[in-house]
Amino acid sequence: MKFKDYPYTRIDIEKVMEEENKLLLEFENADSFEKQSDIIDQLNESKKKIQTSFQIAYIRNSIDTTDEFYEKEKQFLDMNAPVLGSLSNKYNKLLLESKFRKELEEKFGEHLFIMAEYSLKTFSEEIIPLLQEENKLTSQYMKLQASAKIMMDGKEHNLSQMAPYLELQDREKRREATLKTMAFFEENEDKFDNIYHQLVHIRDAIAKKLGYENYVQLGYDKMGRTDYTPEDVANYRKQVYEDLVPFATELWDRQRERIGQEDFKYYDEFLKFTTGNATPKGKEEWMIEKAKKMYKELSPETEEFFTFMTENGLLDLTAKKGKAGGGYCTFISEYKAPFIFSNFNGTSGDVDVLTHEAGHAFQAFRSRNFEVLEYIGPTSELAEVHSMSMEFFTWPWMNEFFAEDTEKYKFAHLEGAVKFVPYGVCVDEFQHFVYENPNVTPDERKAEWKRLEEKYLPHRDYDGIDILERGGFWFKQSHIFAMPFYYIDYTLAQMCALQFWHRSRTDRENAWKDYIKLCSSGGSKPFVHSIEASNIKNPFVSGTIKETLKPVKEYLNSINDKEL
Ligand code: ZN
Repeated sequence: MKFKDYPYTRIDIEKVMEEENKLLLEFENADSFEKQSDIIDQLNESKKKIQTSFQIAYIRNSIDTTDEFYEKEKQFLDMNAPVLGSLSNKYNKLLLESKFRKELEEKFGEHLFIMAEYSLKTFSEEIIPLLQEENKLTSQYMKLQASAKIMMDGKEHNLSQMAPYLELQDREKRREATLKTMAFFEENEDKFDNIYHQLVHIRDAIAKKLGYENYVQLGYDKMGRTDYTPEDVANYRKQVYEDLVPFATELWDRQRERIGQEDFKYYDEFLKFTTGNATPKGKEEWMIEKAKKMYKELSPETEEFFTFMTENGLLDLTAKKGKAGGGYCTFISEYKAPFIFSNFNGTSGDVDVLTHEAGHAFQAFRSRNFEVLEYIGPTSELAEVHSMSMEFFTWPWMNEFFAEDTEKYKFAHLEGAVKFVPYGVCVDEFQHFVYENPNVTPDERKAEWKRLEEKYLPHRDYDGIDILERGGFWFKQSHIFAMPFYYIDYTLAQMCALQFWHRSRTDRENAWKDYIKLCSSGGSKPFVHSIEASNIKNPFVSGTIKETLKPVKEYLNSINDKEL
């Protein structure tokens, strides 16, 4: 069935509550493992229906935000989500207390129980008012960001509309765009500081109410990091500092030379080539044909997957009026169907959708038959391994999309992967400081940011732009406000994806087998366990980064980037 024909019906919340509560009571009183197992299956069926309703409404709302019907449905679902959350809390408790836990663990896997434990220890009824407060503040941040009206070329721009100016060949324009953007943050400095200050205190209070020392471990637990610790991450950051930052600095140096900008400033960082960036040579339909060919040639598994996506109308790619911004991949439970949403705009980012988001979708497709619904979606660092690795496995087909720009695309792709890591790690170390020291002042936070920026991004030169010189860059990083501790995940995943990049060029057959294995195990195991089972070296272990970077350096050093 095509996505557009999937029926949507509003869920009857009262009926769901009644039925699930009845099942939970039966579960509690069940006198055999078989009975409990059977009830878990029934609950999963019910959950699938609910999830499907959410997924269809959210997708259709994002495809056309002017459609009043789905706007209302989305509001209805948003309002009722917490009620449904309380059901899953009850379920988790009963799972852990089950008399037949051992047998259940054997059937459904231990990880389900570990996840249940984590979600219980990170929540209690008591913290609901604080969570609501936290939500309010993050939406205040989003609103403040969205309120930016920046005049450029006689027209008003929001923050994301300012991004293309930073890639212009005209340096004065890039500088002007940066100054004007930063003026917005400077004018609202007190507001940004205030929102964050309150968020930190609320998160600290939540942690203490739940019995944690501070928000750090709670943040990790909420992210489902069940097989690594803040100490492991600290050792990872140390490796980045010692083994990756010097190489990234070299790459910034090469860019400075490449674009011929002796005094290389922050607003020169986005200009990768004076000849312009690599762009795909066609529009949506053409790109889909290319992607079909690519996934057919890549493997039987990807052919099956991409045929399923195209035949069932599970891609909505081109930007159009009324469509929400951004891009995502989601999964529609009852139809076992991944869905990819994006806003094609003619840049190389369009190809990334067909490789990165398709990597997420491919993983969901490989994991679609898990009976335990919780196993279909992995934790975020693991999820990004699937997507970022697909970007590299599809390299041999990039010439189909980029033609004469292929080498330029590959160089920029690989170089960008390395250059991003120090920033990602800087964001992470900053957050550890923030939540370990909840009582510092906003100015002390900015000073710490500045110190970390100098440590991890020594090449950076803000050219005297005041707010940036004082450590205010992170105001624009929404993850710091809305998704604490999330950011490091992109870098961890990149370190794994780079290993697949190398293996795909030297031992492709086995690399692909391991990748399939990784995608097929979905979220049934935690991060470290999953990657190690696919012969990917653990990035927390000393030496991994150095080893991972060796072939990357060799490749990048072999390219004459000045000629791209
Ligand atoms: Zn992703």
